[in-house]
Amino acid sequence: MEWFYKIRERDQEVFMHLKRELERQRTGLEMIPSENFTSLAVMQALGSIFTNKYSEGYPGKRYYGGNEFVDMVEGLAVSRAKRLFNVPHANVQPYSGSPANLAVYLALCKPGDTIMGQNLTDGGHLTHGWKTSVTGQLFRSVPYHVTKEGIINIEEAKQLADENKPRLIWIGSTAYPRRLPFREFAEIAEGCGAYLAADISHISGLVIGGAHESPVAYADIVTTTTHKTLRGPRGAIIMATDKGLRKDPELGEKIDKTIFPGMQGGPHDHVTAAIAIALEEASKPDFIEYAVQIVKNSKALAKGLMEKGVNLVTGGSDNHLILADLTNMGAGMGLFAQEALDAAGITVNKNTIPGEPFSPFYPSGIRLGTPAITTRGMKEPEMLVISGFIAGALQEIKGYSMPNSKEERQPYIRGFKSYIQGNERLRSIRSSVSELCSRFPLYPDLEA
Ligand SMILES: *Cc1c(COP(=O)(O)O)cnc(C)c1O
Repeated sequence: MEWFYKIRERDQEVFMHLKRELERQRTGLEMIPSENFTSLAVMQALGSIFTNKYSEGYPGKRYYGGNEFVDMVEGLAVSRAKRLFNVPHANVQPYSGSPANLAVYLALCKPGDTIMGQNLTDGGHLTHGWKTSVTGQLFRSVPYHVTKEGIINIEEAKQLADENKPRLIWIGSTAYPRRLPFREFAEIAEGCGAYLAADISHISGLVIGGAHESPVAYADIVTTTTHKTLRGPRGAIIMATDKGLRKDPELGEKIDKTIFPGMQGGPHDHVTAAIAIALEEASKPDFIEYAVQIVKNSKALAKGLMEKGVNLVTGGSDNHLILADLTNMGAGMGLFAQEALDAAGITVNKNTIPGEPFSPFYPSGIRLGTPAITTRGMKEPEMLVISGFIAGALQEIKGYSMPNSKEERQPYIRGFKSYIQGNERLRSIRSSVSELCSRFPLYPDLEA
């Protein structure tokens, strides 16, 4: 199937980059835990005529004509989301995860209200009240942390909640390798009268597949992106639970009004169509297998890495994600590890670790995950092989350490990059990676 021929005819420059990106995705190991490979059906919806339409409002209540089919598609997406997550209310219009979370604040809080979320450098998300996010500027943010073992500190969270009486508490993270304590946070929120919002952006696919507990019985509101383990297009869903509606019967309407007309104009109908398709795909038995395999793979990879001497925050993984702590190798090693792995064909991201000893921009860890490589069909034996690739690549950066002096860092990094480019071992890992990937073909039907 020649998929991109119209782009090739129309725009050679974009076409060239697209072709190279397809090759990059095919030949490398995509191990950023927030990324995945959608089905071709999801991609076709994104490239469909629904992109042409304006449909401000909600099904049956639009500000534009010609929405009879958009209404059907949005209705499908909403009813599938409600059924899959078992919630009475869902809004599928948020443009992405960050605006979805902002809508939750604006629906429930007034500027200056106190809110709580997991601290960014402890694994939380920017939108849970970090100081450089508007959520940390519009609201009085009281972050909770993880213990020195890396586990969410429930005692501290309870104490902070009792002292500060927040209006809204977030449970959910972006770099946390263990199970989220929904039940304990429900108790904390009930104890201080706060709304509890569970942001399951990273783990919603695991929740649907039964590989992580669902927050629906505990939280008032649930938000999720649709493009991470859920394996859909870039977008988000905001849900109100039965518990939330008992507390505030108007919760659903408040959320809907905040999204439109409060924050957004027309929904992205092509994305809505793709969300509907992704939710249908996620309702199939093979998606349960997929979710379970993501976790098996993450555990197998964690075990392989630890056996090869890589330290992991919390000493393992219960979900799709692993956080490696590289402080024993040198200072601010995250960037060096990310670059070396990139040269070896393995894409990960540098990440802060709990109690980050160096700097948020030159952090001491890397974050990796198994959702995308599990989509390719890889299983435990491949995880063992990959742990060998990663440990091998990390060997090659031994002896490097980020200078303390800020002036010395740029020249040091330049020197490091040229060392990496000439490194034979990394080149050889890269060809083994590429060979492994060729056994798990990605988008074999796509031709560029
Ligand atoms: C990814 C993520 C978001 C934000 O999603 P974007 O689509 O990047 O705006 C919000 N919360 C959590 C926990 C996330 O992991």
